[in-house]
Amino acid sequence: MANFPCPCCLVPQEELHSLSKEFTLRTTATMKQVYENALVARNKTEQENLLKSFGLHLTENFFWSLSHLDPYRSYTYDVLHCDDLGKWGKHLYPLLLQVLQERGYKGRFAQNMASMPPWSGLKHFPHVTTSDYTDGQSYYDILKYRLMAGLHCTTEERISRLNGYIKKYECFCMKITKEHGKKFDFPKQHACVHLIDDLREKGTTNHHTTRLGEGFHQELARIDENQEAIALIQMRVDQSDRARRALAEEQSSETSDPTDEGNEFDPDQHWSCGSSTKWTTSRVIEDEMKGDRRYDKFDAKICWHHCLYLTYQSLEDWTERRDILQCNRSFHGHLRHDFVLVNTTDSTDLPCAHLYDLFTCKSLDGKKHDIALVSMLKHSSWKPNTLWDGCRVYEEPKESQLVFMKYFIRGAYMSPGFDSGKQNVTYLVDTSDYDMFLRARN
Ligand SMILES: [Zn+2]
Repeated sequence: MANFPCPCCLVPQEELHSLSKEFTLRTTATMKQVYENALVARNKTEQENLLKSFGLHLTENFFWSLSHLDPYRSYTYDVLHCDDLGKWGKHLYPLLLQVLQERGYKGRFAQNMASMPPWSGLKHFPHVTTSDYTDGQSYYDILKYRLMAGLHCTTEERISRLNGYIKKYECFCMKITKEHGKKFDFPKQHACVHLIDDLREKGTTNHHTTRLGEGFHQELARIDENQEAIALIQMRVDQSDRARRALAEEQSSETSDPTDEGNEFDPDQHWSCGSSTKWTTSRVIEDEMKGDRRYDKFDAKICWHHCLYLTYQSLEDWTERRDILQCNRSFHGHLRHDFVLVNTTDSTDLPCAHLYDLFTCKSLDGKKHDIALVSMLKHSSWKPNTLWDGCRVYEEPKESQLVFMKYFIRGAYMSPGFDSGKQNVTYLVDTSDYDMFLRARN
């Protein structure tokens, strides 16, 4: 409630909404001077007025006495309180619900959110508008809007893009103020002003987040140590398992059963199959899928899988990530066919396919080939009412194709094209994670 509420700078209360202006930064020297001037003020009123014009109390700051330390620079942007719980959870999301309510769309919004397909790691919201979500993670899952601020690895190019987003965000906020009377003069809005400097001085926001739980930080070191030990043990167990399997395979190469092979990774390939059947003939699959034209004329020795583990290098920080893709007519009792990005030679923007089935086929020379039955999506001419930057709408044709799994890049989370009036229209959720966000060049 102070006239100058920012711990870093001297932004006046009524300017908190302004994200492109620069404000004088606080320093130990200047703040100490104000305190000393206040001590020798002629009377109480003059003293109060002086302190108020800097948002201070008549209290000596203990941190001033420590050398090599500037308490005003230690205050740091926190995505949990500033964004997830703050701007979004406390301000924009309630306004969004209010606007949807006024226009009679709240029910439809809840319905659409409940109809979103499942995706590994994503929270599902069966009653999004009636439940009270108080944790930051829920708000983050509802709208992963602040991806660029949360990247675990950044570059000058990414910082300059973030700068552009902040400017854009400010414009949208001005529009919201104009159309809905919403004021943005609160400290968490202003925090954006310091975000870029914080990234340069202190590294990416994951290094100074409170998302892990404020009391949890001391626990982290011990957990890290335990995980390291577990990883080492796991590695030894895996090595021993591999050696044992290699020996067993040598002894009976023909009778080997893929279901016993688990999800073992071939170091030369970036995917591996799971939930597999025993080796069978194409006849069995054809019979089981009778009536589905996509399965006509199979002819090979085939093993069927219902799950695909796909590893890829993340564009965010170049570490290895893994998507678990389901291709299952009864995944926890529900039909689930995930989507995948495919490396094709044509110039389609982010080629995407709907996975219908996963097979390993044995050719006559005994070689195994991992193949998927997919529908390659085409870009659709349908557009939603509100077009957003990088909006990619796809349409699924009836025909299917066989594609080698080696051409798969990573999984893709797709949303049904609600209100398109067509069953086969989907759009890419490019905010599903950091890698996808960067891949979609947003
Ligand atoms: Zn400030």
